[in-house]
Amino acid sequence: MCLFCKIVSKEISANIILEDDDFLAFHDINPKAPVHILAIPKNHVDSFNEASSQMMASMTTFIQKVAIEVNIKDSGYRVITNIGSDGGQEVKHLHFHILGGAKLRWGHLSDADPKGNI
Ligand code: AMP
Ligand code: ZN
Repeated sequence: MCLFCKIVSKEISANIILEDDDFLAFHDINPKAPVHILAIPKNHVDSFNEASSQMMASMTTFIQKVAIEVNIKDSGYRVITNIGSDGGQEVKHLHFHILGGAKLRWGHLSDADPKGNI
């Protein structure tokens, strides 16, 4: 069972923000912003590559509810999902990073040379 499936089954504890039948949101253990939450589907999906459009429709509503719950809806926030090796995905269970609580910089989001020279 993957790490986030263990959080879903409560085998590993997490600081949960919001939960419904299909999704779970909890604080990232290593926050990169004053607010850094992970939103995941309870059913295991490897990454965004395998996500269905139906699931993504309800995931959208869930992420919007998380933003309201932690009071960042109006101040603004960022939603990111890392996919696969080049995307830097470490946990192979689809998750959306919800970052906010401060003005977020954009420039360092990718450290790659846009010309493709590494
Ligand atoms: P990614 O690199 O997109 O796969 O992101 C994985 C995220 O999971 C990282 O931001 C980690 O800090 C976070 N993480 C890893 N283990 C835990 C955990 N037990 N509870 C909460 N967040 C975690
Ligand atoms: Zn999983």
